[in-house]
This record gives sequence, structure tokens and C-alpha cells, in this order.
Amino acid sequence: MSNKFLKIKNFIEDIILSVKNKFQSSKYVVKGKCRQCGKCCSNILFSNENGYVKDIETFKEMQKKHFIYNFFYENGKITNEEKELEGVILFKCKHLNRNNKCNIYFIRPFFCRDYPSINPDFIKMGGTTLDDCGFKFAPDKAFIEYLK
Ligand code: SF4
Ligand code: SF4
Repeated sequence: MSNKFLKIKNFIEDIILSVKNKFQSSKYVVKGKCRQCGKCCSNILFSNENGYVKDIETFKEMQKKHFIYNFFYENGKITNEEKELEGVILFKCKHLNRNNKCNIYFIRPFFCRDYPSINPDFIKMGGTTLDDCGFKFAPDKAFIEYLK
């Protein structure tokens, strides 16, 4: 793919995401900018029907079912956390380079472009973006606006 084509593709996908951000039924929007810290590509949790992945054998089975999991490798475990998260494996993407940049930025998967995606239930329970992430979830309008 030519660089020009990739830039157009990237531009169109960014428009789709901003439209989604604007018109989805959620009462939240994503504000801010990426600071390119790379944390969201190196502190990833995966889950299946049994909950968060805590053992590498389970993850290997997931890799057999979908190629996208082959992007990731084990990068530590969560410790000293509440029971549900204790022992959950953290994964890192092999496409993240030493400068915390994505090596396949223009063709990165859609779920990467969508980060941080809005999950109203997660936000209502106090869920937020990673520490130091430049993006934050915010209500789509001030509380007073809802009273009008
Ligand atoms: S493909 Fe790129 S943006 Fe997606 S997780 Fe990997 S390094 Fe991050
Ligand atoms: S954690 Fe946030 S600021 Fe850091 S790379 Fe990911 S999206 Fe950008």
C-alpha cells in the first residue's frame, strides 16, 4: 500500500471514529490527546467467557482461534489487586517499538484506533483510562444541560 493511500485510509477511519464518538447513544465522550506513552500497548488485559486471562495456556488456545492474539506476549502480572484482577496477565504488543511508537501505525487494527472506547457500564462503575493517559472520559454535556 502506498503512503498516500494509507494516510487517506487513516484519515477516513479517524472520521468514522469521531462520528461514532459524537452520535453513539452513550452520554460520554472521549476528550484529550494521545501522549504517545505506549502504556495502552503494553498493559493489556484479555478476557474470554471465563473472565480475565490468568494462565498462558488459556492464552495459547485463544491464539489458535484468532490471529490477532499473536500480536501479544506476556509482560507481567497484576499483583496486590482486588480478587478479580489478582494474577491477571498483562500483555504487550510486539509492534510497539523502543520509542513507544506503533510500527504498524497506519494499518493498526480497528480496536487500537478505537482506544479508549466508550463503555458506559465501565465508566459508571468508575472505570477510567490508564494513569497518565492523555485521554479521559467525560459527560457529553454539563449536568445543568440535562435539567433544561
Ligand atoms: S498494533 Fe500498534 S497501536 Fe495496536 S497494540 Fe500494537 S503497538 Fe499498539
Ligand atoms: S495510554 Fe493513552 S496517552 Fe499513552 S499511548 Fe495509549 S492512548 Fe496514548
